[in-house]
Amino acid sequence: MTDCIFCKIIAGEIPSRKIYEDDEFLAFHDITPQAPVHFLLIPKKHIRNIMELEPEDSVLAGRLLNKAQELAKEQGCAEEGARFVINCKTNGGQTVDHLHIHVLGGRFLTWPPG
Ligand code: AMP
Ligand code: ZN
Repeated sequence: MTDCIFCKIIAGEIPSRKIYEDDEFLAFHDITPQAPVHFLLIPKKHIRNIMELEPEDSVLAGRLLNKAQELAKEQGCAEEGARFVINCKTNGGQTVDHLHIHVLGGRFLTWPPG
């Protein structure tokens, strides 16, 4: 997707502070961190949001969760936990239309969100 900022990050056209990359996924620090740990994990495949996941994406979706867990541990969240967030479309507050998981940790996060 040529007009997608996360696809541009994947392509190296926009810089990011990467924490992980493989053939399927990229993880990088959020540019506006909301907690001491705040990174985004995205599939390299351009899927707009969780509503658009297809049955054929189920293996990728499973691996995405496993990778989020692994990276959260690496970022120091194993002991005290973290929040794993997927915003979706208008009511979910999604601002970038490329599927991503936020991983937030390093402090206590209140619930519910505003
Ligand atoms: P969402 O509101 O769930 O769509 O989250 C999009 C997130 O992407 C926000 O937390 C932004 O701070 C973050 N973001 C936007 N542009 C960039 C960028 N160039 N590098 C890193 N994070 C970004
Ligand atoms: Zn994209």
